[in-house]
Amino acid sequence: MFDAIIIGGSYAGLSAALQLARARRSVLVVDAGQRRNRFAMHSHGFLGHDGHEGAAIAANAREQLLAYPTVKWVDGSARAAHGSIDRFVVEIDAERRFEGQRIVLALGVADELPAIEGVAERWGRSIFHCPYCHGYELEGGAIGVLATMPFSVHQGLMLPDWGKTTYFTRGNFEPTEEERAALKRRGVVTEREPVIAIEGSDAEPTVRLESGRRLPFRGLFLASKTRVASPIAAELGCAIEDGPVGPFVTTDVMKETTVPGVFACGDMAIAAGSVAIAVGDGVRAGISAHRSLIFPPKN
Ligand code: FAD
Ligand code: MG
Repeated sequence: MFDAIIIGGSYAGLSAALQLARARRSVLVVDAGQRRNRFAMHSHGFLGHDGHEGAAIAANAREQLLAYPTVKWVDGSARAAHGSIDRFVVEIDAERRFEGQRIVLALGVADELPAIEGVAERWGRSIFHCPYCHGYELEGGAIGVLATMPFSVHQGLMLPDWGKTTYFTRGNFEPTEEERAALKRRGVVTEREPVIAIEGSDAEPTVRLESGRRLPFRGLFLASKTRVASPIAAELGCAIEDGPVGPFVTTDVMKETTVPGVFACGDMAIAAGSVAIAVGDGVRAGISAHRSLIFPPKN
């Protein structure tokens, strides 16, 4: 029986595990190796690691974590988790089942991209969702925002700080009158023709419209719909709430979910995440899980 099992071993999970390891507690980390930012080469905005490879940040953290003798690591995807506080069971496959007193979920989210030709292969290269992560590198060049939901207007209003912005309604997401006025005040050009495909190099992604017109940009943005990367949280009974781009797991300020003994951190447990936020959130969840072993909740 482990003191805690962490499901998801990227930034949030590694950070939670580190706190428990440093408290000399036994920890198992189960990780499927599908970091959300794996499509982007470099990660930006994380203090001390700005511009480093996202993979290297995680690999370095994992190496440091595994130097603690009470930590075990399993590569694989947890397919189920059940039980309750003091005895949870996490199942990877028929041979690999592990027991833990506490669970920390750090599953991340998966991005659902719009079905436009040329988008998927450019995700993280010339099409992004987070201007703080990738806006600066566009060097003030022209930016296109592809609307995917009413919330996309928010992106359209943000991006002029990074470059002259064109907002593509794609014929589906017409801004309200108030939003139109706000876009105009920000100098945003609105294009209403449906977008047929994205073409061009990483340095010059080009939007092809229904009429055949092609508009080149330095970078494109879209709001992806997100979902928690595994059904495990829901199966354990954790309450889930709606965020602006998708559902996330409800936690209290100390990152405990609505299920006693189950903690959640990182992108799956906040409305909008980043590497730095995931790391901080993981610290809190790890410390919280540790304290809950010492001071169990009274029922
Ligand atoms: P993740 O990093 O997504 O990790 C979740 C882990 O849990 C994965 O390894 C996954 O395989 C594992 N997992 C899921 N289900 C299971 C299961 N059932 N069993 C076992 N393991 C499981 N943020 C920045 O701060 N700077 C950037 O420059 C930046 N660039 C980005 C670029 C792109 C294209 C995208 C999509 C995102 C970017 N982000 C960036 C956001 C950043 O990727 C996330 O905020 C961060 O990865 C969240 O960390 P996390 O640990 O919560 O989740
Ligand atoms: Mg993680």
